[in-house]
Amino acid sequence: MTSAQSTPSEIPTTFTAGSRVAVLLPLPVETAYDYLVPEGLTLEVGDIVEVPLARRFEVGVVWGPGLGDIAEAKLREVVHRLDLPSLPEVLRKFIDWVAGYTLQPTGAVLRMTLNPARRWPQQKAPTAVAVSGLSLIACGVKETPARATVLAIVAQKGPFESAAALSRESGVGAGVIRDLITKGALAIVEAMPASPFTLSQPDFHQPTLEADQEAAAASLRSKVGAGFSVTLLDGVTGSGKTEVYLEAVAATLRAGKQVLVLVPEIALTAQSLARFQERFGAEPAEWHSDLTYKARRETWHGAATGAAQVVVGARSALFLPFTNLGLVVVDEEHDSAFKQEDGVIYHARDMAVVRAKEGSIPIILASATPSLETVINVRNHRYAEVQLPKRFGTASMPRIGVVDMKAHPPEKGRWGRAWLAPPLVKAVDQTLASGDQTLLFLNRRGYAPLTLCRSCGHRLNCPRCSAWLVEHRLTRKLQCHHCGFSARLPETCSSCGAADSFVPCGPGIERVAEEAVARWPDARVRVVSSDMLERPSAVAELIDDILARRIDIVVGTQVLAKGHHFPGLTFVGVVDADLGLSGWDLRAAERTHQLLHQVAGRAGRAERPGRVFLQTHDPAHPVLQAMVSGDDDGFIDSEIDARQALDMPPFGRLTALILSGPDEGAVIATGRGLAAKAPQGDGIEVLGPAPAFMALLRGRHRHRLLLKTRRDIAPQPLVQAWLGGIKAPSSVRIQVDVDPYSFY
Ligand code: ADP
Ligand code: ZN
Repeated sequence: MTSAQSTPSEIPTTFTAGSRVAVLLPLPVETAYDYLVPEGLTLEVGDIVEVPLARRFEVGVVWGPGLGDIAEAKLREVVHRLDLPSLPEVLRKFIDWVAGYTLQPTGAVLRMTLNPARRWPQQKAPTAVAVSGLSLIACGVKETPARATVLAIVAQKGPFESAAALSRESGVGAGVIRDLITKGALAIVEAMPASPFTLSQPDFHQPTLEADQEAAAASLRSKVGAGFSVTLLDGVTGSGKTEVYLEAVAATLRAGKQVLVLVPEIALTAQSLARFQERFGAEPAEWHSDLTYKARRETWHGAATGAAQVVVGARSALFLPFTNLGLVVVDEEHDSAFKQEDGVIYHARDMAVVRAKEGSIPIILASATPSLETVINVRNHRYAEVQLPKRFGTASMPRIGVVDMKAHPPEKGRWGRAWLAPPLVKAVDQTLASGDQTLLFLNRRGYAPLTLCRSCGHRLNCPRCSAWLVEHRLTRKLQCHHCGFSARLPETCSSCGAADSFVPCGPGIERVAEEAVARWPDARVRVVSSDMLERPSAVAELIDDILARRIDIVVGTQVLAKGHHFPGLTFVGVVDADLGLSGWDLRAAERTHQLLHQVAGRAGRAERPGRVFLQTHDPAHPVLQAMVSGDDDGFIDSEIDARQALDMPPFGRLTALILSGPDEGAVIATGRGLAAKAPQGDGIEVLGPAPAFMALLRGRHRHRLLLKTRRDIAPQPLVQAWLGGIKAPSSVRIQVDVDPYSFY
């Protein structure tokens, strides 16, 4: 637990005028600050209040009784309580828990909850122009045609948002309208904003489930209302996992409770929203970074009042102030996008399990390729499991083949180097001939991952990161994918002065698309990567285009690999299945296996069977072997054995410390200082400090330390004591990453 106070029942939760309250602010602070409750105000723990802070005002939450560490005379008063639902106890406890586990300041975690509310006080309640109920005569105004028209229109149509709007509608000057307001024939009233949410109907459209699906649905339904439980919904791609968990959502709605569905990417929300709409006759509330401020406020408020019955959102939706949450679903639970890597570093799937536990409610983790951690929890009977072993309807699993690039090198074409091997080209030929769609998958944005000088070998590097600049031909720019730096391709080499000497090395999706256009000039080719789909509307259009068969070949990165259902897509060609397998990363093989599975899962989801080719230089690699043989369990077993042998998570625990700063000397010195004070003991090991793989990022030098502890040793107290024992210069930032997923 953190130093911020939680509120066990014996501690007072109501604070009258003159008493001290601790108010937690949404800032990187560990503890709540004391304030006085002013005359005429009574506060409850959880209330959202405005308080003075230095020379400004900040919105915070009453976290408990005052801590008493400031002299009474210096205390400042709470300004007022905001007219917002107070934060429920379960959420306050959850915030404390997350802060304690992730070793992030409690205030920084609260910020994820409070962000939309922070701008509320400036908002005035919206008003409208309405009839007052008084006649013109009663107001002492003479009746004129213009005045009569205005009153008639308002009487008929109801309140108008402004005098200007009423003027536009009636064709009567705003002066006349303002005069009617002054005289009292029209009145300014507080506008009642209509709830933006339509009521979901649990039985709006009930699908007929297949036997397997019904069994799974029954099992999930039985968890609703029965307290805390974790269930893995493990079903092959296209088995109807969504259809099945929607039954648990329906059961929760029938019980009058709210549902949170977490999805890993915004790109996935569009199709999910449509599925919910079909099933429940109402769109769920959305939550992600691309929402307008208004939409964000509506969802926040809807979560707090219960008007938002179902929220579909990205990881931060976990921190919404649900008043009556009854179920959490984490879709594609294995996805590493659930790990937030900046700001507050946390894993939304793991924290969602904690949230469910705090709320005594069920959580469903859905995936075709569950994470190793989840599989182990199932095997240890900590989590329940329901399975969907086959695809819905007549759809069968795709046939998966490997193309050995050494045996079948791509043939160079008139457009230059080629990346597609002859067997894959033939398969695309056949797919086009039958009128079906193809996905060419490569998890690399841009045209080429590396650009170098033909005469001297100089490579174009980001000036601020240890990374190559990636050429993007569509935007005619060189880009750093780590810091956003971008520049034009220089005309001469800065190293040897040669002109026009730069050549692209290796393929990105744009380059593969170039080859596709050259090979199949009649086909409609589309390039797709996450940077092109930042807006949900762009995603929706793309999905429409694919569904309406306006595209024959999609060349895309992992944005298209997940979740989507495209009935016309029967062939998937993976351009480089080895990508992601190289380099040291605990989960490299597991992640590649999951990704290939997801991509392959896009093929043949309707009547016609799907086919998948994986281009590789290493056909014997266990990941590729598992893909071809379909022996996923065998693959997982060997991964589990490997982790166990090395005491790697979840058999041991890892905590990373990332030191960064503009001055490398200071970073190195801090690393050494930490190493000298490293925690010691049985089952405790510290690796590093060592320069990070990304030794330079956004102009900051980076070094890493890794604390490895036995499973039964909690790393948090060790790290707290460790960091408390050193004094780092202010130029060096130390980030703590408990259970790291990235090691760069
Ligand atoms: P998954 O999430 O397991 O990949 P989906 O839930 O997307 O699978 O289901 C795949 C497709 O099959 C979807 O178009 C879905 O609407 C359809 N489907 C699955 N089960 C049923 C059912 N019982 N009745 C009608 N359509 C279904
Ligand atoms: Zn950079």
